[in-house]
Amino acid sequence: MKVPIADLHAQYLELETEILENIALVMKSGCFIDGENVQRLEEQIANECGAQFGVGVASGTDALVLSLRACRIGAGDEVITTPFTFGATTEAIALLGATPVYVDIDPCTFNLDVNQIEKAITSRTKAILPVDLFGQMVDRDALRDLAARYNLKIIVDAAQAIGAKRNGEKVAECADATTLSFYPTKNLGACGDAGMVLTNNPEIADTLRSLHVHGQSSYGYFEQIGYCSRLDTLQAVILMAKLPHLNKWNEARRKNAALYHCLLNGKSLTLPGCEQGNYHIYHQYTIRHPERDAIQEYLKERGIDSKLFYPMPMHLQKAYAFLGYKEGDFPEAEKAAKEVLSIPIVPELSEVQISYVAEQLCAYTDSRVNSAVPAA
Ligand SMILES: *Cc1c(COP(=O)(O)O)cnc(C)c1O
Repeated sequence: MKVPIADLHAQYLELETEILENIALVMKSGCFIDGENVQRLEEQIANECGAQFGVGVASGTDALVLSLRACRIGAGDEVITTPFTFGATTEAIALLGATPVYVDIDPCTFNLDVNQIEKAITSRTKAILPVDLFGQMVDRDALRDLAARYNLKIIVDAAQAIGAKRNGEKVAECADATTLSFYPTKNLGACGDAGMVLTNNPEIADTLRSLHVHGQSSYGYFEQIGYCSRLDTLQAVILMAKLPHLNKWNEARRKNAALYHCLLNGKSLTLPGCEQGNYHIYHQYTIRHPERDAIQEYLKERGIDSKLFYPMPMHLQKAYAFLGYKEGDFPEAEKAAKEVLSIPIVPELSEVQISYVAEQLCAYTDSRVNSAVPAA
């Protein structure tokens, strides 16, 4: 049996008719940049995520850069963030000349440990940039409390969490800016690069609308140095075809996760923790084991794909050596990087495939338990 980590072909086949019809309409219209399709997508996604405004941009990375700019973060400012994430989060901060300041993660959820944020705040701290990692929202009450007490901006990287909720709160309700990515393998994926910023602040929305078209206030009037960062109309209509299916797909991921929980419970693997009240949408299902590399190899030999999200925390990366961190600074992030393994969870997988993955994992851990028992 083969179990892929992503199956974009199956997702395409499910929606082939709508996607091709939408593309044909755009091709005939000749309107490839902006227009009402993009506007409609912005409105629908903002609404879906609990925000008043959405601004489509060229990628999830651009969404972060533009959000930081719109929140007036720049040289000399410190931004508190997580070392355990995809590189774009730190990159966006560094590109603007601001300094990423890391706080260790909660080993159970892999999210920024909100209890450790306060001790990292200095007079230069301007913002907190947490990531809703693997599809689980960071504690919004803690963020709101810190933002209010220290007058900080909150920018949430929700690239992996479109459709997640926490105690009924949607992903974009809390922050000054919330960023999404529509990278093809995200829970809602385009056929290329695309992203969006969501906000409830009309001033930030206006600034973003200017920044993403070269800083223009209206055509030909440049009020600030901006970017060329638009969400293509073709990508917008592809996303439009997929959006009505997002909740169903997220539910299917949750069902797969529940099956894993049930089949892998009580084994020597550590299963991903879900905090009370969180509607986790399992962008990834990430298990932990000290023999992670051996398990990955074992699964590969049995036709099962898996990936390392993430193999090295940001504070130990060559590109960010100039920040001056060293091994041992964030022990939980470092330990996670050595132990994590993301296994197939996408909605297109069958119960038979998920059961097969679980069965192979159990076969591995059972064989290790037996070999660890000393002979009588
Ligand atoms: C995917 C991702 C991004 C970057 O999104 P792109 O659309 O690829 O630029 C940023 N942050 C996180 C956590 C992501 O998973």
